[in-house]
Amino acid sequence: MKVAIIGAGYSGLSIAKELVENGQEVTIFEKENYVGGMVNTIDILDTRLEKYYRHIFKSDKEVINLIKEMEIEENLIWPSTKMGYIINNKIYEFGTPISLLKFKELNFLEKIIFGFNIINLKLINNYKKLENVTAEQWLKKRIGNKIYSKIWEPLLLSKFGDEKEKISMVWLWGKIKLRSTSSTNNGEQLGYLKGSYQKLTDSLYQYLVDKKVDIKLKINIKEIKKENKYTIIYNDNDIEDKKQEFDIVVSTIDYKNFVNLFNKYIDEEELQKIKEIEYTAARTMIIVSDISFSPFYWINVGNKDIPFGGIIEHTNLVSKDNYKQNHIIYISNYMTEENKLYKMTKEELLQEYIKYLNKINHNFSMKNIKQCYVFDEQYAQPIIKCNYSNIILDNKLKNENIYICSMPQIYPEDRGMNYAIKEGKNTAKKILDLIQNESKEL
Ligand SMILES: Cc1cc2nc3c(=O)[nH]c(=O)nc-3n(C[C@H](O)[C@H](O)[C@H](O)COP(=O)(O)OP(=O)(O)OC[C@H]3O[C@@H](n4cnc5c(N)ncnc54)[C@H](O)[C@@H]3O)c2cc1C
Repeated sequence: MKVAIIGAGYSGLSIAKELVENGQEVTIFEKENYVGGMVNTIDILDTRLEKYYRHIFKSDKEVINLIKEMEIEENLIWPSTKMGYIINNKIYEFGTPISLLKFKELNFLEKIIFGFNIINLKLINNYKKLENVTAEQWLKKRIGNKIYSKIWEPLLLSKFGDEKEKISMVWLWGKIKLRSTSSTNNGEQLGYLKGSYQKLTDSLYQYLVDKKVDIKLKINIKEIKKENKYTIIYNDNDIEDKKQEFDIVVSTIDYKNFVNLFNKYIDEEELQKIKEIEYTAARTMIIVSDISFSPFYWINVGNKDIPFGGIIEHTNLVSKDNYKQNHIIYISNYMTEENKLYKMTKEELLQEYIKYLNKINHNFSMKNIKQCYVFDEQYAQPIIKCNYSNIILDNKLKNENIYICSMPQIYPEDRGMNYAIKEGKNTAKKILDLIQNESKEL
């Protein structure tokens, strides 16, 4: 059968792999001039670097297996990293039992309450119990307002901005469970591919091309018509539009653009579910600096006045030897598109951020910055609200051979490369079942 996949991120590539390995004819339509989606990289200091900070956890079996299958596992490293937390403009080590004991912002009793609450959360296996309560309600009830507002509230704020009150406890539970697979008493062991995840994207791309998957880049899909089959009408910068017929179409794009392309095929109930899904955008800055900012890989920002959520020093995960002795620092920020920071130029944003970076580390100033980049992702993170399982869309539209495999369908885990691959494989299996059933009927 002929299958069209819209989007060449890790979901799309993973669906294509599974389908082509099972004898299907696959075409991918991608609007950008590259594959990999959010795992995209840039050319920097004679190497490649992810636009968005990137690591994997020990539990990310799908990514690890794919790396092995593509025979590039000699590049996979698992360094030990340290996590920090900024409160009152001071960085504390965080995330280990010893660091909690040394943390001065909570008194002894509060530390015990906080620590036991984390242990308790890790012991919960059935997330369903947490479905109908927000993280804020659940935490405040168990650890009280003070600990909540010192630790958890800033974290939720940094990831979801003004939407933080809506976040289901399941989301936070998922994060804590996931991170615990990579935790040790000295910090976290996180996975990175030396030379960047571009190595994995390139290997996967070549694998698919060798298997005769047709990957079309820089494609503008104009319309999807249905006669006997689905006809995709698209333009690839030629004067004339082109068209191609398919038995099955799979969308891996965000829900907002999905509705624009497929509105004719979505029924009222499905549309209601789609409308419930909201996203936050992400604005990520990459700073190339001649000094290190801190000894931590990952710093969460607890000061509510600081206008960004995290400082991720990539060169505390991977040696600066790979970047001509420069230090690579990501400033992470999730926000709505209406936020004034989302509209600033790169220069304005850097001026804004540097004031706060300098307050935290007085030695760090504009003179240390050698290069700076800013990247925006409009649909970066679905907002996981209470009772989210009720609004998850099926992988297949009713009465149509149209499948959907997109970030909002990942639950109770949080989005990530691993789950894009996993969800991609699941979707492909469902498509293969349909093909098998249809061929039995003939
Ligand atoms: C700031 C940030 C940091 C992250 N850090 C990590 C991390 O450390 N570890 C981790 O595992 N994950 C991380 N993630 C998440 C991870 O990158 C995503 O979960 C994963 O890449 C999603 O893959 P996808 O294929 O589902 O979606 P995407 O990568 O978004 O792919 C969708 C593709 O569809 C294309 N497309 C969209 N519209 C159209 C259209 N109309 N026609 C054709 N093509 C279209 C897009 O160009 C894109 O290529 C991070 C994400 C962000 C934003």
